[in-house]
Amino acid sequence: LIAVTEVRKRFGSNEVLKGIDLDVEPGEVVAVIGKSGSGKSTLLRCINGLETIDGGSIVVAGAQLLDDELHLKALRLKVGMIFQQFNLFPHLSAGRNVMLSQRVVKKADKAAAEAMARQQLERVGLGHKFDAYPDELSGGQQQRVAIARALAMEPIALLCDEITSALDPELVAEVLAVVRELAAEGMTLMMVTHEMAFAREVASRVVFMHEGRVHEIGPPAELFAAPRTPELRRFLGTTP
Ligand code: ATP
Ligand code: MG
Repeated sequence: LIAVTEVRKRFGSNEVLKGIDLDVEPGEVVAVIGKSGSGKSTLLRCINGLETIDGGSIVVAGAQLLDDELHLKALRLKVGMIFQQFNLFPHLSAGRNVMLSQRVVKKADKAAAEAMARQQLERVGLGHKFDAYPDELSGGQQQRVAIARALAMEPIALLCDEITSALDPELVAEVLAVVRELAAEGMTLMMVTHEMAFAREVASRVVFMHEGRVHEIGPPAELFAAPRTPELRRFLGTTP
């Protein structure tokens, strides 16, 4: 579904991705782990077309990511992305937040956008919060609205970049529960996470990034139980 081949990305003289190869199959849940600065967010941003690439290719659902506006826009429509910061509009209700990009990007009419917003808010357990404003919601609820907003675009895959990192510990579980549910429904997911227990439980494969490369990759049971490289051993040793 997502084919990343030999992808390189530099910021000035800093080569951040040094030839990434990664195939994500439909319905797969890929957890991406690694030290700060190893290139995890940059990889997700490249896949979503938020960053251009300097080499290699990214093919999503058979369509090559080319460096022009039209293709980038088409790609962003297909691949949803959720960030650590929820980025909801404070002056819009939860429902309106979920409706907005459908209206603007998908050109959905109001009734269709509203029906979709209600359906997706329901899906993340917030059917009753359609009219609530972001400041009336907990962080966990706000993040679930952000997930509903991404789902409303009917993405073929969802990229999650540390979506629980800004949350108080007691709110992490409710967001992970939504992700677990999406995984069970067969959604293709790629998630950067520090939640090792969650990665172990839900991921079909774990990617360990180190200095801009995929340093190790494999099923979580293997990777966590028997890391092959000293870098992964060290990384796992410092993570609870
Ligand atoms: P973290 O765990 O801290 O989120 P990460 O693995 O997501 O780290 P990236 O955000 O992908 O790391 O950053 C990788 C490298 O690229 C870092 O050295 C960072 O400083 C650099 N970098 C990222 N974005 C930019 C940018 N827009 N301009 C310049 N350098 C950047
Ligand atoms: Mg990051």
